[in-house]
Amino acid sequence: MRTLIAGNWKMNGGRAILAELDRIAAAAAAAPAVDVAIAPPFTLLAEAAARAGGVVIGGQDCHSAPKGAHTGCISAGMLVEMGARFVICGHSERRAEFGESDALVRSKAHAALGAGLTAIVCIGEDEAERDEGRALMVVAAELEGSVPPNANAANLVISYEPAWAIGTGRTPTLAEIGEMHLIIRAKLLQLIGEEGARVRILYGGSVNGTNIAAILTCPEVNGALIGGASLTADQFLPIVQAAANVSQ
Ligand code: PEP
Repeated sequence: MRTLIAGNWKMNGGRAILAELDRIAAAAAAAPAVDVAIAPPFTLLAEAAARAGGVVIGGQDCHSAPKGAHTGCISAGMLVEMGARFVICGHSERRAEFGESDALVRSKAHAALGAGLTAIVCIGEDEAERDEGRALMVVAAELEGSVPPNANAANLVISYEPAWAIGTGRTPTLAEIGEMHLIIRAKLLQLIGEEGARVRILYGGSVNGTNIAAILTCPEVNGALIGGASLTADQFLPIVQAAANVSQ
């Protein structure tokens, strides 16, 4: 499985941030062992896709319907038309800020796959769930509820992102990451059969150039989803480079 390093720019960046993408694209070309992806804001998708080189560009969300009266929303087909090749579904910020349920995340992912996109489906416990010892159960249930029926190894990526680790500088221990990823792998095998063995499982939450190498040594960690540290090439490229070193 090829390691995937994906950046989520969230609601950050005007056109000037595309200069960072240019640097990322140039460096990614020199690290061919690793897949590199960036999800810019919708407003930058088309231009990002046009100048991304080997960096795969994707959306941060989509609607579950192909079109219609859904003010402010973007369909999976619209993302494809802008040059997107993947979409993040069910990021914890969408689950928390917009009340997205597993069923909604699954329907969005279903629409994404139907439009020919890869879905990066995010799952992860919050701090109270971790403290109460329910993290493994919560994540397994989220996975079961969020993976669409048309998923396979080529069109699905899972990102395990404990909400309490996002943007906080805190991360689970390597043992906790490995334990969770093993559970996710076992659950994927149950859900989609042998295809589940080849679905990439990313870790996300305060990944940086210093901790990525160790995180990639955890069992069943096939890459990372990065928020804050993906906004500048100076912070993102050491992550890509470390992942390339581990993959060699
Ligand atoms: C994220 O939002 O998906 C994320 C992992 O953010 P950060 O890297 O900033 O913790």
